[in-house]
Amino acid sequence: MLETVFGPVPSRRLGRSLGVNNIPPKHCTYSCVYCQLGRTDHLTVNRRRFYDWDFIVREVVNKANRVGLSHIDYVTFVPDGEPTLDVFLGKEIREIKKKLPVRVAVITNGSLLWMDDVRSDLQEADWVSVKVDAVTEDIYRRVDRPHPSLRLPAVRGGIEEFSRAYNGVLVTETMLVAGVNDSVSEIEGIARFVEKLNPAKAYIAVPTRPPAEAWAIPPSEKVVLMAYQIFEEYLGNRVELLLGAEGGDFVIDPVKPIESILGIISVHPIRKNVLTRLLADKGLDPNEVIGGLIGSGEVAVVEFEGEEFLVRRLPGRKDLSSR
Ligand code: SF4
Repeated sequence: MLETVFGPVPSRRLGRSLGVNNIPPKHCTYSCVYCQLGRTDHLTVNRRRFYDWDFIVREVVNKANRVGLSHIDYVTFVPDGEPTLDVFLGKEIREIKKKLPVRVAVITNGSLLWMDDVRSDLQEADWVSVKVDAVTEDIYRRVDRPHPSLRLPAVRGGIEEFSRAYNGVLVTETMLVAGVNDSVSEIEGIARFVEKLNPAKAYIAVPTRPPAEAWAIPPSEKVVLMAYQIFEEYLGNRVELLLGAEGGDFVIDPVKPIESILGIISVHPIRKNVLTRLLADKGLDPNEVIGGLIGSGEVAVVEFEGEEFLVRRLPGRKDLSSR
């Protein structure tokens, strides 16, 4: 069974991040064309209970104690979908922080921040990342493919309202997809909006892992550089590119290696050569473990930009290995 708490995994922004998967695959308010989890099969805006809050808290505490707090920089809500759909999110963050001396991060698409209860839940976190992929309605619909009830002005208003009141570290993330949201005018509009949010950092990312739609590819290096320069005009040295591959220091739980690999790759697909090296370092037979993972039907090997990745199969992604 997939673990609800996984890692720690090396995060480009958060160091060693113990991941919390508080949403089962795949419930989201968006179905982004670049999503590494595949297409959204439960497109929803209704907050509800997915797990009991005390189950999530217990899993985090147990895993943190097993791994050791000195190996964790952040406990991060980064699930198989949108974390704010979990109606207990605020309670879970509060209880985790009561029981453990840790910082908590949430990676959200920000689409529900127009709701008072979502804003107050996220106030509990120490670090919040919100997505800003577009500032015009038609491009927003093409890149993020939101639930039909969502309207960009309301989403933008919610993000702005949250940014004014939030006491923790707020960052933004903008994913650029070739031919969709990478025009000069859209990038300028995004940079202008992000400046209003006054983030600690504004990250520009491109798809570096197998996307939901095979055509969702990174813009050229020239366009990425142009985007960086436009952002820099508005945000100075607070702009960063997120283009790198992950490092090799994923932590595989020695007690449950298969479950921990499944948990990690559901959110963070791993290059096959990285996993092979990690398994060998643990004294495990990489061919046997990777063969077992693929044989379980829960994992597929996908080639993207010339490299092989292991990704978790989700409903609607049965054709992954044929891409
Ligand atoms: S990238 Fe995030 S917001 Fe977009 S569909 Fe995937 S889980 Fe949802």
